[in-house]
Amino acid sequence: MDNLEEYKRWISQPRKLVIVTHHTPDADALGSSLALAQYLKKKQHQVTVISPSVYPSFLEWMNDKREVLIYNDNTHDVCEQTLQDADMVFLLDFSTFDRLQNMRGIVERSPTKRFIIDHHQNPEINADFWLWDTQACSTSELVYSFIEMLDDNVLIDVAMGECIYAGIVTDTASFKRASTTKKSHLITAHLMDLGVCTNRVQRLIYDNFSEDRLHFIGHILKDKLHVLPEYHASYLVITSQELEQYKTQLGDTEGLVDYAMSVKDTVVAGIFIEKNDCVKVSLRSAGGFAVNTIARQYFNGGGHLNSAAGMVSIPIEQAEKTFLQVLDQHKEELQNLVLC
Ligand code: 5GP
Ligand code: MN
Repeated sequence: MDNLEEYKRWISQPRKLVIVTHHTPDADALGSSLALAQYLKKKQHQVTVISPSVYPSFLEWMNDKREVLIYNDNTHDVCEQTLQDADMVFLLDFSTFDRLQNMRGIVERSPTKRFIIDHHQNPEINADFWLWDTQACSTSELVYSFIEMLDDNVLIDVAMGECIYAGIVTDTASFKRASTTKKSHLITAHLMDLGVCTNRVQRLIYDNFSEDRLHFIGHILKDKLHVLPEYHASYLVITSQELEQYKTQLGDTEGLVDYAMSVKDTVVAGIFIEKNDCVKVSLRSAGGFAVNTIARQYFNGGGHLNSAAGMVSIPIEQAEKTFLQVLDQHKEELQNLVLC
C-alpha cells in the first residue's frame, strides 16, 4: 500500500465508515467485510456494512449480530443516506461498479472518499486508498495483512479470525487452487494459535447441506455433466426448471463447477445456470489457461486467471454454444496444456 502514512494520519480520529461488498456476497466478500468492520469498531470508529443483496444461509453464522444492512427497495434511502453521511467507504472484494448491480448508482454517485481492498484484476474504480494485490488468495487475506501493516495484530480475535479463515478457505477451495500460498497457510496457522477452530468453520460452510441440495447435486452429476476429453473440458448445465424442481435455495449451486473441474484430465470447467432471463456462467481452469479473459470477452464478467464468472442475457443453449465455440478456438492450447 503506497500511502499508508497518509491513511494512518486520516484515521487517527474517530470516523464514520461504510463497508460495501459485491452483489451475492460469498464467504470471502462477507468474511473480509465483517472482519474489517470488527477491527475498525475496536479502533472506535462508527461502521456500517452494506451488502447489495442477500447472502447464502450457510454464512448466517458470520453475521450473528445482524450487523449487515442488506440493500433492497425498502432500504434504498437508508443505504444512500448512510453513504452520504460517511467519511469514507471501503469497497471490499471487487473493483468494478458492475459487481454492485442495483446498488451501483448510489455508490458511484457518492462523493465520499474510497478505499479499495481487493485481489481481482482489471480494477475500474477510482479510489483515494488502495490495498490491491492480485497475488493474494482472498480479500480476507488482505484484511489480515492490512491489520498487520497497522501493527494491530493483537486486535484480531476469534470471531474476526473465523471470518478471515472462511474467506481464505473458500477462495482457495480448501487450499487447492493455484492461488494458495505459503502466506495463506501461515495466516491460518496464526489464526489457529489464536483459537480459531478451523474444523468448526469448515463444517459450518461445507457440512451444512439440506437433503434437497444433495438430491439436486445427485441429479446434476448424473444427468447434466458433459465431459469433452478432446478439449480436456467438462461442464454442467442447469435450467431454471431444475432449480425449481429440486427446491434449490440461494447458494445451492455454489461449488458445483468444482465437480466438473475434478473430472480426470480436465483443465477447463464451466457451469451454466439459467436464472429468470439471465444465465450465470462460472468458469474454472488449471495452469495458464486464462478463464477471466473468456468471462470478460463472452460472458460479461471477469475474475481471476483460474476462477471467473459472468452473467449474460441470452438463452442457456446460446451460452453453452458460445462456450463450445471458445473451446474449439483454443483446442490446440487445451490439448497441449502441461500441468505441473
Ligand atoms: P463464482 O464462479 O464463484 O461466482 O465466481 C468466480 C470468480 O469470478 C469470483 O471470485 C469473482 O472474482 C469473479 N466474478 C464472479 N461474478 C462476476 C461478475 O459478475 N463480474 C466479474 N467481473 N467478475 C465476477
Ligand atoms: Mn475474493
